[in-house]
Amino acid sequence: MQIDIDDPCRGCGVCCQHFRISFYQGELDSQPGGFVPAELVSRLTPFLVCMKGTEAGDGRCIALRPDRRCGIYEKRPTPCRDFPALMADGSRNPECLRLRELFSVDDRLSGCVEA
Ligand code: SF4
Ligand code: SF4
Repeated sequence: MQIDIDDPCRGCGVCCQHFRISFYQGELDSQPGGFVPAELVSRLTPFLVCMKGTEAGDGRCIALRPDRRCGIYEKRPTPCRDFPALMADGSRNPECLRLRELFSVDDRLSGCVEA
């Protein structure tokens, strides 16, 4: 793994193992203009789906690779794109820090979520 200490995202992947990653079904590649692989989701409602593995929360997203990188980075859904490692003022995302503490992630580990 390439080490980049300046990358605000430490590539720990804990956000991909904690949240239910739910989003509008229009993002699925089975829909016009969609891009998220439809075979990787579970249906929640007629309009909402979530990444398989995250249905109940505290589950590992099916797209998270063993090296903690996203296996569908270019096709990841909106919640993943919208979860920032840095806030608008340049500070670390407190949710990110909370999760890393919860999962006892070694802050010396660094990387990038891009596959
Ligand atoms: S956004 Fe935060 S919690 Fe998610 S992989 Fe990056 S450092 Fe880890
Ligand atoms: S789609 Fe990729 S970025 Fe989103 S939760 Fe799954 S592994 Fe993480």
